[in-house]
Amino acid sequence: QAKLTGRNQYHFFDTNLDEEVRTHHNQRTEVRHALINNELRLYYQPKVNMRTGVVVGMEALLRWQHARRGVLSPAQFLPLVEQTDLIIDIGEWVLRQALWQIRRWSAAGQHWVVSVNIAARHFQRPDFVPRLKAILDEFPGVRPNMLELEILESSALHDLEHVRRIIRACQALGITFALDDFGTGYSSMSYLKRLPADIVKIDQSFVRNMLNDPDDLHLVRAVIGLARSFSLTVIAEGVESVEHGARLLELGCDLAQGYGIAHPMPAETVLDWAGSFVPAPQWQAALHHSDG
Ligand code: C2E
Ligand code: MG
Ligand code: MG
Ligand code: MG
Repeated sequence: QAKLTGRNQYHFFDTNLDEEVRTHHNQRTEVRHALINNELRLYYQPKVNMRTGVVVGMEALLRWQHARRGVLSPAQFLPLVEQTDLIIDIGEWVLRQALWQIRRWSAAGQHWVVSVNIAARHFQRPDFVPRLKAILDEFPGVRPNMLELEILESSALHDLEHVRRIIRACQALGITFALDDFGTGYSSMSYLKRLPADIVKIDQSFVRNMLNDPDDLHLVRAVIGLARSFSLTVIAEGVESVEHGARLLELGCDLAQGYGIAHPMPAETVLDWAGSFVPAPQWQAALHHSDG
């Protein structure tokens, strides 16, 4: 009897695992169809220079315009595909879409640098650089220095030397590099020394709580100091209020991005947004203060 139970349990788990694998497979197939059927979209979130109030760039953020479920965020569908080569097809679609958008905005007189998030699996492909170069060649009017790539610190974990070479090769093309979600990896410090990044993005979890949590404030201050001592541009993400912005400016942060400035929005609304954007007076006040 005990044996039978054991076997039943075994079958029970086995069946569940099968189902999970099948479900994941079906979900990946759905995402592939979304790509093919043109249901993926890029939303854009502005990046602002806090000292001048100038909009300097846009981060491209992926969305799935799902026929039944509405707009889905990356957390709802990307983790599943990040372990497969589908992430490479999606990543290349994102790159093309972003380059196309840079060209449109430039034609409208807005020369914004557009940043694209690149998954570790995609970035570490041996042919990443030649393929990226080929994609850039499809857009002869777009200078590579209009494109920025954001990688997670953790992307560099596996083979730091390899990643370093890829970054250098991209920089040789004119592309800039940002380390995203900086401060969340446990060896952030040593990465700054070993990876030739141009930009550090302070993770939003620290920025969001910095006005209430002294530890987060210390962390934000330390990252800004560190980035500046390496002569890197530092951007804060998750800037949800004018008070955050003013404090960050005092701390010496260069750029800001967050709901306090703008939520990510469809490409069609970006020009209108920029036309009516007025930087917060608190930032200007902090500016005069630090100048005087
Ligand atoms: P990320 O690159 O760190 O992007 C910042 C995320 O924070 C975005 O979430 C953005 O909408 C959100 N955010 C911006 N400002 C604020 C704020 O003030 N408060 C709060 N609470 N959140 C804010 P989103 O769009 O859901 O993207 C999540 C992550 O998915 C991104 O984090 C990025 O790692 C990944 N991702 C997005 N698009 C792509 C893509 O095209 N390719 C790849 N591989 N990953 C992507
Ligand atoms: Mg990012
Ligand atoms: Mg981030
Ligand atoms: Mg993130």
